[in-house]
Parts: sequence; C-alpha cells; structure tokens
Amino acid sequence: MLDFSMTVGGRQVTARETFAVINPATGQVVGHAPNASLADLDMAVAAAIAAFPAWAALPDDQRQAACAALAGRLAERAEDIARLLTQEQGKPLNGLGSRFEMGGAQAWAGYTAGLSLPVKVLQDDNSGRIELHRKPIGVVGSITPWNWPVMIAIWHILPALRAGNTVVVKPSPYTPLSTLMAVATMAEILPPGVLNVVTSDDRAVNIGAAMASHPDIRKIVFTGSCATGEKIMQTAATTMKRLTLEMGGNDAGIVLPDCDPRAIAEGLFWGAFINNGQTCAAMKRLYVHDSIHDAVCDELAAFARNIPMGNGLDETSVLGPVANRMQFDKVSRLVADAAQSGRIILGGAADEGLFFPVTLIADLPEDAPLIIEEQFGPALPIIRYTDLDQAIAAANNSDNGLGGSVWSTDRARARDIALQLDCGSVWVNRHGAIQPNAPFGGTKRSGIGREFGEEGLAEMTEMQTLFC
Ligand code: NAD
Repeated sequence: MLDFSMTVGGRQVTARETFAVINPATGQVVGHAPNASLADLDMAVAAAIAAFPAWAALPDDQRQAACAALAGRLAERAEDIARLLTQEQGKPLNGLGSRFEMGGAQAWAGYTAGLSLPVKVLQDDNSGRIELHRKPIGVVGSITPWNWPVMIAIWHILPALRAGNTVVVKPSPYTPLSTLMAVATMAEILPPGVLNVVTSDDRAVNIGAAMASHPDIRKIVFTGSCATGEKIMQTAATTMKRLTLEMGGNDAGIVLPDCDPRAIAEGLFWGAFINNGQTCAAMKRLYVHDSIHDAVCDELAAFARNIPMGNGLDETSVLGPVANRMQFDKVSRLVADAAQSGRIILGGAADEGLFFPVTLIADLPEDAPLIIEEQFGPALPIIRYTDLDQAIAAANNSDNGLGGSVWSTDRARARDIALQLDCGSVWVNRHGAIQPNAPFGGTKRSGIGREFGEEGLAEMTEMQTLFC
C-alpha cells in the first residue's frame, strides 16, 4: 500500500488529509491519494498561471519536441502505471485492459505532439492582408472519469500543452493513483507548473466544481457523465470559460438481415463489452433484424462464454470486475428490472464481489430502463426489429448522440444508413473504434466540441484575427 502525492509547480506535495482507493477485485486498499483543499487547488492554479507565459512563448518546434518527449516518458513507466491502473480500476492487464490503455495513451501523445496549427492567411491582396492566428487560452482545467483514466487524461493534457496552455488535472476519486503517477512522470521533463494534478474524494469539497467556477481557469475539458457536464456548463457560464464536454452515450448498433451471425459475433461482443461496457462509445443497445435475431443472440452468447473474467492482475483474465460499488449497484438495478420484463439469454446476476457476468437480455419493451438509460456496464439489451426505418428511428430516439454502428455485408448500403444516425461517430461493421487523427465527440446531450486531430487541437486555442 502506498501514499501518493500531487504534482504542483514541479514539486511533489501532499494535502492535509488523504483518502483510500479501493481495488474492486479484492475490496482492499490500493493506496492513499491526497484530499486536496480549495487552497491546494489555488496553489496548483497559481503554479499553472506562473508557468504560462514562458510555455506559451516557447518556439513552436521546442514545444512540439517537449510534447513528443512525454510519449517517451509514458512508454518508460507504462508497465508500472498499467499495474496500478489495473488495481484501482479493475481492468485486466491484458486484452483491451490497462496495457492496451497505456499503448493508447502513448499513441495519442505521440500523434498529438506532431500536430500543428499554422497561421492561416485569409486574404493577401491590394486591399490588405488578413491572418488567422491560433493562440493558447491560458490555464486549462482537465476533469476526468474512472473508466479510461490515463488515456482520457492524455486526451486532455497533450492538445492543451501542445497548443501552449498550462494544465491542472483532476482525476476521478475512484481512480486517482494512475493519473498521479503518470503526471508525476511527465512533469519531470516539463518546466515546473506546466502540468499539475490535484486529487479529491469530492466529499467535503468538490474540487471539480471549484475548477468550473475558478476565475483563473480559462477552459475546462471534461469527460464524464451528462449530469456533471451540465453542472459544469452552468457553473462555467459565470466566468465565460471555454468548454469541451465529452459526456455519456447510449450507442445503438443496427444489424441488417444480410449478416452472418457467427462472423459478426466477435465484433459485436467487443463493441459492447470493451472495458466491461464501461466505455462512453460502447454499444449499449443492439437492434437485430428478426430473421437473424435468435442466431445473433446464440452466437454472441457462445462467444461470451469463452471470455475469462477474474482479478485483472491475473495474466489470463480478459475481463475484470465492475470498477466500483456505485456502478455495480446501477448495473444490478437495471438488470434486475430488465429480468422482470425481458428474457435473460446469458448472465443476469452477480455471484461474487463486484464481478458481474456478461449479460445479454432480449425481448424487452422499448421503454425498458436498460434500453433508455446508459447502463455503462456488462449488460446488453438485444432488440428485435422488422422495419429498418423504425430501427433507425428507435436508434435516434435518445437524448444521447455519441456513437452508432451499422452491420451489413453491403458496405454501400450500410454507409447510407450510418449517415442517418444522429451521433458524432458512426461505424460500419465495428463499433467504438477511435483514432487520434479522427475527431471524436457527441451530438445532443453527449457533449459539446470535439477531441482529437486538428479539430481537437483547435479547441485548445483562441482565434486571433490580424488585419495588417
Ligand atoms: P462523473 O460525471 O461522475 O465524474 C467525472 C469527473 O467529474 C470526476 O473527476 C468527478 O470527480 C468530477 N465531478 C463530480 N462532480 C463534479 C462537479 N459538480 N463539477 C465538476 N466536476 C465534477 O462521471 P464518471 O462516473 O466518472 O464517468 C462515467 C461517465 O463518463 C459515463 O456517463 C460515460 O459515458 C462518460 N464518459 C464519456 C466519455 C466521452 O468521451 N464522451 C468517455 C468516458 C466516459
């Protein structure tokens, strides 16, 4: 068991109090994180303010090189961070687990470091020259969730730093330790104050809320639930903060009748159950044509039965426990309710600790809470359809609009249907695949703005139009 510290102004600092972080696989304490006070937050913001002028003024190639070096630092500590991540989050080391997450973090860091936003000449003629400059905003506050804590922190930190901002990160109280370790590791090769981290259990004082109202934080980039994102948007209005909000999803997949159920079972499974379904853009509702509905259910169940679930530190585990008691209770409630009105094909109830078996449920009424709410866990409702237009309408009948997918052997047709889905990303014959060069974000209540690629980098800047 270890005590972790925060990185503020290039130094390792503690807080007056700490809080315990629990391993969901064992119920044991992994370590203790500092429980930051408002004064600790102010100190971190002050360090970021002090570091901003020099970091923003650094020649672009030097800032680019510094960001590229961060990917290398992450690679050096990847195994240590992965093991810590597995212990606090539950995801296995292997499969699409913590080593995969660290690989993603390095890939995003490396790609983002290589991006740039050169000055754009809008006009250059006898009547004058107009240039569009992209300038850093100032101190960026990053607030992250517990499902992919390190990778999502990197999604926030790297574009913010690359664009010349300085950063204060606040991870989820469920998974603060891997972020503390990752930030400490990266900050070692950055000027003091460029990258800072504060942790809090959100009880006596909600540090995330304090960041949203902080007068010296100029932008918040947030990934988390819709409810929290809405609060941040309201709070941030008083200081007119720039916002990027990546929030919840209730992604639908639509399977057309021309699919081979066995051929698509693996893709459907991982589209829905990556990270135990605790993934914003995982498939959370599956619409299958009546003619192959039962065969798809059977093939998915057959595939799922072979996936080993266990303590993530066990090298043979491919899925771990649900990440925390709060989420476990939510999934349990939704599945117990669905069992009353639908047909359980696989799983259905937990038998040990926070391990919830992969659960498939068919024949639910369309207003079942498991279909309407974001379950964010290992339970997938499979919905039978006969009329494609009705399936598309049902897929779009959601407050969320993060992702969606269409499955068919006719790619051209699938592409046309995909474009009818009201969501930020849409895939053909896969679900949830994301890349550092492809903008990602949601429509409707799933958020505002985009991350990744040049579009994501641009969101970390203010535009200045120069008439000269
Ligand atoms: P959450 O909203 O409960 O917490 C997210 C973060 O916000 C945590 O750091 C938390 O401490 C902080 N927070 C809590 N109250 C706050 C407040 N009032 N003001 C500011 N910050 C506050 O979300 P979670 O349970 O950690 O994550 C799960 C949710 O995140 C799911 O809905 C999932 O879909 C979503 N998510 C979205 C994406 C995406 O890119 N769209 C990615 C991952 C997760």
